[in-house]
Amino acid sequence: MKHLSIDQFRDALICAADDIIASEPKLTEIDTIIGDGDHGTTMKSGFTALKAMLKSSGYESMFDLLRSTGVQLLRVMGGASGVIFGTLFIGGHEAVRNKTEMDADCFIDFFDMSCEAIMKRGKARPGDKTMLDALYPAIEAMKERRKASGDMRDIMDAAAEGAKAGAQSSADMLPKVGRSKNFRERGIGYPDPGAVSVSIIFSSMAEYLHSI
Ligand code: ADP
Ligand code: MG
Repeated sequence: MKHLSIDQFRDALICAADDIIASEPKLTEIDTIIGDGDHGTTMKSGFTALKAMLKSSGYESMFDLLRSTGVQLLRVMGGASGVIFGTLFIGGHEAVRNKTEMDADCFIDFFDMSCEAIMKRGKARPGDKTMLDALYPAIEAMKERRKASGDMRDIMDAAAEGAKAGAQSSADMLPKVGRSKNFRERGIGYPDPGAVSVSIIFSSMAEYLHSI
């Protein structure tokens, strides 16, 4: 599978939304320990609204699909995480301008640019115990896999594996940014909730690709 169509990409995002919505209790539990407890409900409301939008609208381009996704999350989630998760789908838009299909290079460029944009906006770096600790290793894993394969399933599997390992490794980190910094030591041994969300998003997109 060399390319994803706009409809396939939209359906992959709907699967990710379903998994985020179903993970609300788990995300709430982790954010209650290391943050202020709202991550599960914030993500659930954002991805519920996202799913409704994706199911009811048509998209002319990847740019249109991804930008609309990011704007909806930004609008509904609000706050710091709205900006962060909105930017995940908006920050790479230059990589998908005029594209009607998604291939491996475009997909990697898209998230590479999003990651840069998130670091710029939020002033965090990998290692600070944020969602970047899942996103950054996901991108590194995709770049590594790309040397051997341009198949979208392989690339998405690499993203899911990189994000999962990254989210797990965030458990040993001390938070440096965001509200959870107030809870510092209490967070040791628990992964960053945003990193777990990124891992869920990539895993369900990978699962979707294997189902079609
Ligand atoms: P809030 O931080 O407003 O309580 P959430 O609980 O919904 O929002 O989201 C918290 C998550 O957002 C964190 O687990 C982290 O992954 C992510 N996050 C917060 N601030 C930043 C930042 N500056 N850079 C990257 N990610 C961040
Ligand atoms: Mg929170």
